[in-house]
Amino acid sequence: MPLLRDPSSLRKWRQQLQGSLAFVPTMGHLHAGHLALFRLAQARAEQVLVSIYVNPLQFGPGEDFDSYPRSLDEDLHKLGEAGCTAVFVPTDQDLYPNGPLAQTQVEPPARLSDILCGVQRPGHFRGVATIVLKLLHLVAPDMLVLGEKDYQQYRIVQQMLVDLNLSTQLLCGPTQREPDGLAMSSRNTRLSPEQRAIAPALAAELHQLCRLPANSVAGSSAEESAERLRQAGFALDYLELRDSETLQPLSHTQPGARWFAAARLGPVRLIDNMVIP
Ligand code: AMP
Repeated sequence: MPLLRDPSSLRKWRQQLQGSLAFVPTMGHLHAGHLALFRLAQARAEQVLVSIYVNPLQFGPGEDFDSYPRSLDEDLHKLGEAGCTAVFVPTDQDLYPNGPLAQTQVEPPARLSDILCGVQRPGHFRGVATIVLKLLHLVAPDMLVLGEKDYQQYRIVQQMLVDLNLSTQLLCGPTQREPDGLAMSSRNTRLSPEQRAIAPALAAELHQLCRLPANSVAGSSAEESAERLRQAGFALDYLELRDSETLQPLSHTQPGARWFAAARLGPVRLIDNMVIP
């Protein structure tokens, strides 16, 4: 499995590649959620490229860029075992030779990016859209595979592909969960045993909210769930019902609408979302 460490090796590798290519961008510290996306990619394309890059541009001041878990050797081992065609592991110097803030950036529409995670993380989705577009230009894949776990990110990238006339096909892999319901995340390894025991409550509340009868008032149920989560020890950033396409708030539950939550346990910020069946 070739390990491509810079854009020029990637370009050479890409030029000689035969068959369709699916691309799975990640920040590494791979878990079964990433590997499920990889298997989706493998099922849909002849070749799969995974990138591992912790993108500084999508982290704000005081966020966990430095403490973000990194485990490149283990990641490469997992991808090799899984049959990955190649892995792209660029450096900051390659992607941001003049520093991340000194370059052209992609500004997603505010109606999608200034809400939900964009409120606590201003500029986060600008960083995400910018790195995804850069990687798409470098990798030139037929398909891009993203996870439903980061649904707002998925919607923003989907919109960027349309708005910037990119022909890459976008695939979305369902959220993979631990047996107790907690959405898998690289950040979960930073939870203390006590926090890990509390963490599944976030998914449990979303699950319960998704089972409210159609046309229930969203706000009062959300407030009750939020209060239970606070009692359990979460610091809640948001718990909201929104339209799955426009991401605009909804006052009443309906099939296809989506509950979104973000909450902190100590230094670890967890996000999750579930669609009403
Ligand atoms: P990350 O490494 O956290 O940036 O995630 C890389 C990709 O994996 C993104 O498209 C995420 O949405 C996706 N992903 C992360 N966690 C999960 C999960 N539990 N299930 C499915 N996809 C996931």
